[in-house]
Amino acid sequence: MIAGMPEAVGIGSVPVQRLLARNAGPMTGPGTNTYAIGARRLAVLDPGPVDPQHLQAILDLAGERPIDWIFVTHTHGDHSPGTAPLQARTGAQVIGLPPPPESGQDPSFRAARPCHDGERIDCGEFSMRLIHTPGHVSNHLCFLLEQDALLFTGDHILDGMTPVIAPPDGCMRQYLQALERLKTLPLRALAPAHGRVMHEPLQVIETLLRHRARRESKLLSVLAAQSQPLSLQALAGLVYDDITPALLPLACRTLQAHLLKLEAEGRARQADDLWARGPHGR
Ligand SMILES: [Zn+2]
Repeated sequence: MIAGMPEAVGIGSVPVQRLLARNAGPMTGPGTNTYAIGARRLAVLDPGPVDPQHLQAILDLAGERPIDWIFVTHTHGDHSPGTAPLQARTGAQVIGLPPPPESGQDPSFRAARPCHDGERIDCGEFSMRLIHTPGHVSNHLCFLLEQDALLFTGDHILDGMTPVIAPPDGCMRQYLQALERLKTLPLRALAPAHGRVMHEPLQVIETLLRHRARRESKLLSVLAAQSQPLSLQALAGLVYDDITPALLPLACRTLQAHLLKLEAEGRARQADDLWARGPHGR
């Protein structure tokens, strides 16, 4: 996949194109996917970072066709800052949830109006269902293209990497609940914000849930084996002994999310920033 070169990824009656932004990196993998949905009137999903070249690539892809809607999965810097410049050029209606207060997320983001879980946006040729999927961040939305059962998953489900869950805004319990909820939808494919379209949705979701369960179980074993409480960093070294050290700071965030979930369940406890097995421990 080459940045700036659209690729057709639709799986049914509604044309969908994927346009890769030029922001590859450790946090974004190959870069952010911007999607253009529709035949005659377009919706653009996740315009990406502010980048005049990427903005021009979106406008070139649209050509004469109007861009009437901009859908935003969440307000991290690699997803939403491109919204304002694209909106200014097109007059599109912006749909998404505002950044959580004091989160440091994209302050430029402005939605056209409040929106809510389950809402259906009628785009004429197609319709989008909003699905609130907190966990990665509290204001995360997935968008279901109803005609083709194609789910745009943002950073909730990624191809080839697992999403970072960073407290306090990120929450492991909510993340797992939101994944379980997606299993109840009749999905045909997942279109993530990073990586390729995935065609076996249930398998992908089950794999993610198993991955999180295995990590939690490893964390519980490590906690049970300690004679003294440990710092988050020390625990991360033991629980994430299978990843490249460069990823440890990110893994620490997700580990903290696991610990907070276990603390709420009485299976871990913390004092003075040190963690130990909880009263209901394994
Ligand atoms: Zn994100």
